[in-house]
Amino acid sequence: MLIKENLNNIRNNIPENICLIAVSKYQSVSAIMQAYQAGQRVFGENKAQELSLKYPQLPEDIQWHFIGHLQTNKVKLIAPFVNVIHSVDSLKLLIEINKEAENNKRIIDCFLQIYIASEETKFGLSYAEAKSILDSEDYKNLNSIRITGVMGMASFTDKMQLVRQEFRKLNEVFNQLKNNYFQNIQYFKECSSGMSHDYIIAIEEGSTLVRIGTAIFGER
Ligand SMILES: *Cc1c(COP(=O)(O)O)cnc(C)c1O
Repeated sequence: MLIKENLNNIRNNIPENICLIAVSKYQSVSAIMQAYQAGQRVFGENKAQELSLKYPQLPEDIQWHFIGHLQTNKVKLIAPFVNVIHSVDSLKLLIEINKEAENNKRIIDCFLQIYIASEETKFGLSYAEAKSILDSEDYKNLNSIRITGVMGMASFTDKMQLVRQEFRKLNEVFNQLKNNYFQNIQYFKECSSGMSHDYIIAIEEGSTLVRIGTAIFGER
């Protein structure tokens, strides 16, 4: 079973305190079940519709992380069950997540997605934009979400030195936010960075949570 071997190889490569998210976008329910049977419990998806269709077909004890760009009108599809949303890139989205979390009588953990890549194509907030969300009156009234970390995507490049710098920048932003807004808040502790081709570098630069698809399931 290739999926099981791949998972074991990755687990051997990363420290135990790093959370491995198996990115199962475009993968079938049966491929996800193979990973589940190999002990994997944390999965990531990047489309709300796809996730909402897979969720009822899979075991209840899976933790679902939403990692893709999220439109406000899709939040309700995943709010009843999603554990963490990695891709918060506006106050408007955060307010919507809070509203849907409240409707479902849940607290949803969120990461602020920080723009770290040198290319122009990725979503995310600058440090100043992240600060302005955290400084806003609206944010202070959101009782059904918790900001538990940051997420970043490096440039799509094989220049690994550049990728390393970008991950380092994410970790700096994490530390600045920690110092300025979350100093005594234990749950603000996650730095989500690193994918199949760069997760080792990401961990060296402070990632606590890697998002790996291809290296587990093969090419999509
Ligand atoms: C697809 C995806 C991943 C996983 O990418 P791989 O290269 O297949 O490991 C990680 N993060 C996000 C946000 C993704 O969309």
